[in-house]
Amino acid sequence: MPMNLLTFKGGVHPPQNKHRTEGMPLNKAKVPGLIVIPLQQHIGAPCEPIVNVGEEVKLGQKIGEPKGFVSAPVHSSVSGKVAAIEKRVHPGGGMVMSVVIESDGLDTIDESIKPQGKLEDLTADQIKNIMRQAGLVGMGGATFPAQVKFSPPPDKKIDTIILNGAECEPYLTSDHRLMVEKSEDVVNGIKAMMKAVNVDKGYIAIEENKPDAIKAVTQAAKGEENIKVVTLRAKYPQGAEKQLIKACTGREVPSGGLPMDSGVIVNNVGTAAALACAIETGMPLVERIVTITGSGIKEPQNLLVRIGTPFADVIEQCGGLEENIGKIIQGGPMMGIAQYTIEVPVIKGTSGILILKEEDLGLTPELPCIKCGKCVDACPIGLMPTKLDGFASKGMRREAEEYNAVDCIECGSCSFVCPAKRPLVERIRLIKADILAERRKAKQA
Ligand code: SF4
Ligand code: SF4
Repeated sequence: MPMNLLTFKGGVHPPQNKHRTEGMPLNKAKVPGLIVIPLQQHIGAPCEPIVNVGEEVKLGQKIGEPKGFVSAPVHSSVSGKVAAIEKRVHPGGGMVMSVVIESDGLDTIDESIKPQGKLEDLTADQIKNIMRQAGLVGMGGATFPAQVKFSPPPDKKIDTIILNGAECEPYLTSDHRLMVEKSEDVVNGIKAMMKAVNVDKGYIAIEENKPDAIKAVTQAAKGEENIKVVTLRAKYPQGAEKQLIKACTGREVPSGGLPMDSGVIVNNVGTAAALACAIETGMPLVERIVTITGSGIKEPQNLLVRIGTPFADVIEQCGGLEENIGKIIQGGPMMGIAQYTIEVPVIKGTSGILILKEEDLGLTPELPCIKCGKCVDACPIGLMPTKLDGFASKGMRREAEEYNAVDCIECGSCSFVCPAKRPLVERIRLIKADILAERRKAKQA
């Protein structure tokens, strides 16, 4: 293994389990008869519906208007008729107001969809406007509205864009296949992003375990002097923003700070490709690549899925479920969200559907801490998970705050290495939420 690969301190090496899908070409998923589009698929304010029950809609038509700066519009991913506007189960948890559309199977494209012109001719503001109108959000799972990242306050000077192609979560290969099969979109996307904030330094960061993606993206970026394809050591959570920034630029994001505090904007490779597509065709974000994998699915694959397709339909196209299913997760095993029903729809942030058999869950009872320190060594942020676990168990909010619980990126590395099987990240997540709620209350007061 080469010794000079870029990386960060801490982290873990969970089994990658990517072999089931990493070499399989992308397939298009069938369009289901019924699509469920949640009006909240992003961090920030939900959208208001701008269609009525019974109304005809077209593919790409805006059906939800964002309310607030931190928000993103939603669009119909089929043509058809609005069957209902009601609360539906959401893969992020709970019930969310959604537009249910019966597809007419015709995919009639909305008249407003048209190419946005050549990148050379677009201004920075026009690119940001395309990001907003296309409903682009962070497609790695964070779902932060893209144009908000690209509108930093005047005192934050941005000089670097990093595209995250690390895909360090085990099992997931959707970004991998995107980089192999749509490498030009990825490169065109970062060029547009660099122009949107007038920077001349761009990195596309890919883990060493994807040599075909590194080759394809390097080839697509040939001749682009300002874009560097960098190879990262394969280690979890290499794709976390702060870790990527450290690995690519050597800069540290200050405690409690954001990437922009280090002059950097980080985006997922999928977001970049979606921006390139929105510029070239005018089509907003209405489909994405999803990895459907794990021991519990009969035919694992990567599918290009329309937003709003219920998990049940996607699973059926992958041959259905095996016997004895233990867990269904949106995303990967480290940071994904467990689902209690397969009626939830694919949303903009659904990078994967991971289905595991019960025997693969490795459920063992929690034991007392043996003070081995493994969680401390694994924490990429340099926190003391064992201490935070103790504070969280006793509800000691102030002490947890003093030990920087809010800097936890909830990567789960500590829980993964803990020999006592303590649910460290789950407890830290709760006390962190408590601290942040308290801070918000104090601010309002
Ligand atoms: S404390 Fe937070 S950041 Fe550190 S390893 Fe655990 S989950 Fe990751
Ligand atoms: S890894 Fe687990 S057992 Fe070891 S110090 Fe951390 S909490 Fe305790």
